[in-house]
Amino acid sequence: MTETFRAYLREHNLPITAQRLAVAEVLAESARHLSAEEIARELSTRRLRVGTATVYRTLELLVKSGLVVERDFSEGFRRYESARDAPHHEHLICTRCGEVREFRDERLERMTTLLAETHGYVRQSHRLVIHGTCDDCRQRGVRPAYSPPRAAGPA
Ligand SMILES: [Zn+2]
Ligand SMILES: [Zn+2]
Repeated sequence: MTETFRAYLREHNLPITAQRLAVAEVLAESARHLSAEEIARELSTRRLRVGTATVYRTLELLVKSGLVVERDFSEGFRRYESARDAPHHEHLICTRCGEVREFRDERLERMTTLLAETHGYVRQSHRLVIHGTCDDCRQRGVRPAYSPPRAAGPA
């Protein structure tokens, strides 16, 4: 991914800096969904001085280039994941510890296509985020860190 990002920057006449490449590297190496803060923290453990503004600007470029996907799980901040070659997937997020799990289910793919058809639509894409409590947190009795969006609550 770092090489592709380098090519992207060159193509767009943007400076290729060690800081920018380092942000791309952190995301390329991680299978997780990282916040800008987590990325900045990771960079500081690598003894790289990258300001938060630079992290944000670089993330913007990475998203524009299609190498990174931005996620909003209604936590009050965004998360970022490498686009990889991973197919479309959905997310489960723990409202207590913030753990994000990925899943893919063919039934859901079929269901959303059918639902769209029912309403006279041709489905292009959809997004599903399930807010809940992971098994670890339930066992440890951890309290919620934030409230999931209202509209997504149980019926
Ligand atoms: Zn949890
Ligand atoms: Zn994901």
